[in-house]
Amino acid sequence: PSPLGPTPKLVIDLERLAQLPKEKAGALARYAATIQSQRGDYNGKVLSIRQEDLRSLAVIYDKSPAELTEELIGWGVLDAEARRAVETF
Ligand code: C2E
Ligand code: C2E
Ligand code: C2E
Repeated sequence: PSPLGPTPKLVIDLERLAQLPKEKAGALARYAATIQSQRGDYNGKVLSIRQEDLRSLAVIYDKSPAELTEELIGWGVLDAEARRAVETF
């Protein structure tokens, strides 16, 4: 087990996501909207996603999961804690 505790969750900031230009964040926004629709989870300010979904998103953005995580942290969509969630990939 990690000395820093359990693996943190990947939590998307939906309000921040909505502020970003479509050219950058459009694919992520559509992906998040699809998950919300599948769950029937429309009212949240944040959305917890699966690690597997970050892998899929990395393919879509043509980056490694670690590179995409850095980008999303830079955009303010993921918390810096998310770095630890992708270390285990
Ligand atoms: P499913 O994968 O067959 O999951 C059925 C139900 O099991 C989910 O219903 C949820 O209540 C529970 N569940 C499965 N995995 C987890 C998990 O890691 N954490 C939690 N808290 N619950 C889990 P729900 O939420 O209504 O989702 C219905 C279907 O929508 C899911 O069926 C899946 O096909 C899709 N879905 C929902 N959220 C996600 C997601 O974050 N990523 C992906 N890839 N699919 C999702
Ligand atoms: P947490 O996972 O740390 O989430 C904290 C709060 O962030 C949640 O409070 C909720 O307001 C928000 N949040 C996180 N992920 C999502 C999301 O995907 N959709 C939405 N709409 N909001 C989200 P909340 O709901 O009072 O839950 C408190 C704690 O209870 C959660 O802490 C978690 O530990 C647990 N919990 C709640 N629902 C589930 C669930 O479906 N599965 C599991 N395993 N734990 C849950
Ligand atoms: P969580 O609910 O606290 O679940 C943490 C981890 O436990 C998940 O990480 C997954 O590895 C495992 N897990 C929990 N429930 C199930 C399940 O029903 N089936 C399987 N096969 N594994 C399960 P993961 O997948 O990275 O998901 C991270 C977080 O994303 C979940 O935290 C939950 O907040 C959210 N999430 C993922 N899938 C769903 C879903 O289908 N529905 C909902 N409502 N939330 C989901």
